[in-house]
Amino acid sequence: MSRASPRIAVLAVGDELLSGEVVDTNLRSAADALGDRGLSVARHVTVADDTDAISSEVSELAREYDVIIVTGGLGPTSDDLTTEAIAKAAGTSLVFQPHIEQQLIAFFDSLGRSMPGDNLKQAYLPGGALEIPAQGTAPGFMIEIEGALVAALPGVPSEMEAMLAGAVLPEIDARYPRRTATGLKRLMTFGMGESDVALLLADRIHAGSVKYGFLARSGPIIVKLTAEAEDDRAVRQALLAEEREAEKKLGDLVYSTDDRSLEEVVGEMLRARGMTVSTAESLTAGMVSARLADVPGSSDYLLGGVVAYGAEEKRRLLEVPAELMAGGVVGTGVAEAMARGAMKLFGSDMALATTGIAGPGTGGETKRRGTVALAVVDRERAVSVERRLPGDRAMVRNIATMAALNAARLFLSAEP
Ligand code: ATP
Ligand code: MG
Repeated sequence: MSRASPRIAVLAVGDELLSGEVVDTNLRSAADALGDRGLSVARHVTVADDTDAISSEVSELAREYDVIIVTGGLGPTSDDLTTEAIAKAAGTSLVFQPHIEQQLIAFFDSLGRSMPGDNLKQAYLPGGALEIPAQGTAPGFMIEIEGALVAALPGVPSEMEAMLAGAVLPEIDARYPRRTATGLKRLMTFGMGESDVALLLADRIHAGSVKYGFLARSGPIIVKLTAEAEDDRAVRQALLAEEREAEKKLGDLVYSTDDRSLEEVVGEMLRARGMTVSTAESLTAGMVSARLADVPGSSDYLLGGVVAYGAEEKRRLLEVPAELMAGGVVGTGVAEAMARGAMKLFGSDMALATTGIAGPGTGGETKRRGTVALAVVDRERAVSVERRLPGDRAMVRNIATMAALNAARLFLSAEP
């Protein structure tokens, strides 16, 4: 690697992680953030909410690793023991921080509540620790143990990520200066499987100008380009040049090169064209409109949506002709009629529709489970597809939702 790289360990604290009640997403986001800087996690340990267990794990890791990122257990409850455990491992005691108490009081005050007594515990930090200001109520901290940097961060994913980026990564950079620059670019694609995407890029991977990685996220395939060069400018140039080459191979499979989601991309296209949209959903029962509405400002183009799950409701609310549904409600004809019904009902410029069989049963339909039909219409054009999707009920509905958004993206890019 390009710098004297620190050996990094992540220690996740929490009974809920060991019992499987909570899936450890903090490792993934920490590894992602470190990876962006050319660093990687060498060891990951999960430990129970137990002072001795946490403390001995921290001591052990501190002997072997340069940086230990501890997540969880900074909260106010009796099972939040990370602070005491790290103080024990560092051989120091807890020191009361009056300014943190004041911040906690002010935080609860802003919610119109008085501070619960339990929260006072969060105003104590191990002696010699450097405070990382709280994102919620729990401050984090960094402390040196046996020459290792130990960073204690909250378990709440958004708080953990903010403190890692704001305080811990800069500290790592200061301790282990980089000799070269690295950078990462993600090309988000939708519409093809991982191995097919990799096949399209075979020449580029072989060219070796940058490093290629692939990440499958049930639906989108993310192509990761990693470049290393003498400085940031050279990294940016290498990534931009490779992005152009990769896009030539991938064509309209790429929906974003700047981490925007499908719904953000569709929203921006609608806004740029001054168009409005509505939805008619059976299979996805509102998931498509919910995704569109996830984007701030979507009220500028999203007029509304109809969930018409039953055939009778498709006829009554969306005016889908009964004859069209005689052979079943899953087909491109029904999907197009649903979309036209929504467009008429809401007076929107275009509309999206979904219908399908999520499974595990087929609900009396003759087609196989996983069969979905999607349509996008405006006043002049209609585009619809019928496909079979893999996976269980949740996966079929989720992929169908993204496929509908992607169909809207392709439809809009053909729009004059
Ligand atoms: P709080 O102030 O909320 O108590 P905390 O630092 O004590 O913060 P925990 O109590 O351990 O953190 O966890 C808070 C929440 O964060 C948990 O309910 C859990 O859902 C989530 N969480 C904890 N650890 C992880 C992890 N490794 N990955 C994903 N989520 C996690
Ligand atoms: Mg807790």
